[in-house]
Formats: sequence, C-alpha cells, structure tokens
Amino acid sequence: MSVKTNYEEVRKKIEQAQAESPFHQEVTLVAVSKTHPSEMIYEVYQEGQRDFGENKVQELTRKYEELPKDIRWHMIGHLQTNKVKYIIDKVCMIHSVDSLKLAQVIDREAKKHDLCMPILIEVNIGEEESKSGIRAEELPELIRSLSELDHIRVLGLMCIPPVCSDEDTARNYFRSLRNLSIDIKDRNIDNIQMEILSMGMSDDYITAISEGSTIVRVGTGIFGMRDYTKTLL
Ligand SMILES: *Cc1c(COP(=O)(O)O)cnc(C)c1O
Repeated sequence: MSVKTNYEEVRKKIEQAQAESPFHQEVTLVAVSKTHPSEMIYEVYQEGQRDFGENKVQELTRKYEELPKDIRWHMIGHLQTNKVKYIIDKVCMIHSVDSLKLAQVIDREAKKHDLCMPILIEVNIGEEESKSGIRAEELPELIRSLSELDHIRVLGLMCIPPVCSDEDTARNYFRSLRNLSIDIKDRNIDNIQMEILSMGMSDDYITAISEGSTIVRVGTGIFGMRDYTKTLL
C-alpha cells in the first residue's frame, strides 16, 4: 500500500470515529514521521497534511530545513533541557513536558524569541517504571507551578499507554487521562487550559477518539513500519 492510500484510509477512519464520538470534538491528526525520509513526508504534505510529529531534536531540525515552512512540527518525544533552544522557534507545540525544570527552560527560551509556546503535560498513565511522563498524583502541583510562567501556555495532557494494551485496557487509560483533565479544568487555574487530549496512536486512535481525544499521533498507520537500522542522520 502506498503512503497516499494509507493516509486517505486513516483520514477516513478518523472522520468516522469523530462523527460517532459522544464528545463531538474536533480531532487533529499529527502524522508521526520519525525515521522516515523527507521525500516520504512531502508525499503526505502534498495530500494536504500540515501537522507532523517528530521525537528527536536533530531529526526535527534537519527536516525543518528540508521541508516547506508551513508545516506545523509537533515535538512528541522526550526533550532534554539543553536542546530546547534548537527547536523553540521551529515547533508549534511540545507534547512531552514532564517536569517543572523542562517547562522553565521552555519558558525562558520562548521569552528570548518573544513567543508563547503551547505545551502539553505528558502523564505516565500506566505508571510504568521505564516511561517518561509524570505520575497522575504529581499533576496538580506541577500545574500550579506552571501557571506562573508567562511564555508557555498549558493546553492539555498527553499520554502513551503501555504497549500491548488490548482495546478495553487502552480505553481505560484514555478515560483516566480525560478524567484527570476534567479534574484540572474544574480547578480554574490561571493560564491553564485543558482543551487538548493528545492520545491515540496507530493501534488505538479510534478508541482514543471515542474517549475524547482531540489529537491523534499516527505513524505506522500512514508511513508503514519504521526501520531503525537505517541511519538517517
Ligand atoms: C512513535 C510515536 C507515535 C506513533 O506511533 P505509531 O504506533 O507508529 O502510530 C506516537 N506518539 C509518540 C510519542 C511516538 O513516539
């Protein structure tokens, strides 16, 4: 199957899931292009896609240079504080903020460029040892500290549920993230909005949409399997 066919298929399924969702929410598709070459990304761009997700700073900045400037790049991977400066003026949103320290660095770098960076807090919803993201119980305190930073805008939450979750398990994780988001929203904290739920990947984006997801991050479903043995840099 061609990337174009895959893309059309995913778009169609999203539209259908959106129409059937009890939340009547808008859903944005972020095409996760990590490990794939710019030529392949351009094929999807030509179909009208503008939101793309990358998880490595070096790869993102290289593709930023190679591809049209009206692409909206989403940083979805773990981000080291010392690398924030390389992407701050190149991305439209950072999905993976999981510490006050990282948020403070983003705030400081955004200030230098006179911009306000939209961010999401990554929650380790499955409470896995090895995963990034903060634990649910740490969320309220982090959110309160973030509300004081002027050059970030907290727009919502993101999660990556444990791999190999079956549909019901995945659904429960998505529901937990949505409940956390409602909980935060009800506190009415300054500078904190909870409009975005970034949840759902190739295997579970339809389930995620039925649980209120507003951003799905789909890689394999569009671009096919990733080959990590090929060095792209
Ligand atoms: C790679 C990645 C995705 C896409 O995963 P697929 O299963 O290929 O759709 C989504 N979100 C994050 C954070 C990723 O790193």
